[in-house]
Amino acid sequence: MAYANGAIPASALKRSTFGVDLTKAAANSANRLNALYALLHGKRLTATDGYRSLAIQKKIFLERYAKGSLAGKAGYTTDVRSYLGAAYTRRTGTAAAAIPGTSNHGLGLALDISALGGFDGAAFKRLEAIAADYGWTNTEGRSVGESWHWVYSRAHDKRRPVKYVVKAKTLGSTKAALYRGKATGKANITRHRALGKTLNIIQITGKWAQTAKGDWIKLSKIKKAK
Ligand SMILES: [Zn+2]
Repeated sequence: MAYANGAIPASALKRSTFGVDLTKAAANSANRLNALYALLHGKRLTATDGYRSLAIQKKIFLERYAKGSLAGKAGYTTDVRSYLGAAYTRRTGTAAAAIPGTSNHGLGLALDISALGGFDGAAFKRLEAIAADYGWTNTEGRSVGESWHWVYSRAHDKRRPVKYVVKAKTLGSTKAALYRGKATGKANITRHRALGKTLNIIQITGKWAQTAKGDWIKLSKIKKAK
């Protein structure tokens, strides 16, 4: 079900671990990305903004842009946009804002992520290194000078879970186990049985598959669910 920009009902939104709402698919992906970020770097990321209603986007736009073609005048930037048939010019010292009805925030697909430290920030680099596989990019943000603005594309999300089932012939064998931690199968990791389970697999690396919960299982023990 597709909703108009800024008109997504609460029932179609989900609170992400970034602390803000997104569409369900974007929130699930954001949560997987944030879980990996926390695993690698010790803490989760947060965001100041996710989904925005049309009314909120309008308020933000009108705070930052004044009616009229004012580029070059004192107190105004050269960022002039057309909204409802009129020109609006961005005030100096304010961040860009999409024309109401056109923002990816209104589609529940954008996050404004906190404390990344700008385009050269350590946290920005750490996020950039892992985000694309989850369908999240800063491309749109970079085009307007915003390191914090990240957009989700479901078509580019390689970590969407695919259902697998543990193969019947391995049932009853402790070898069909889920391993917590790295995909090594070594003795120092906790393992717990996966017999008969349906698993949401988010990635396959060599002989191992990773579940959405972060556990690993040997690829030879599972098959794609019908
Ligand atoms: Zn944004």
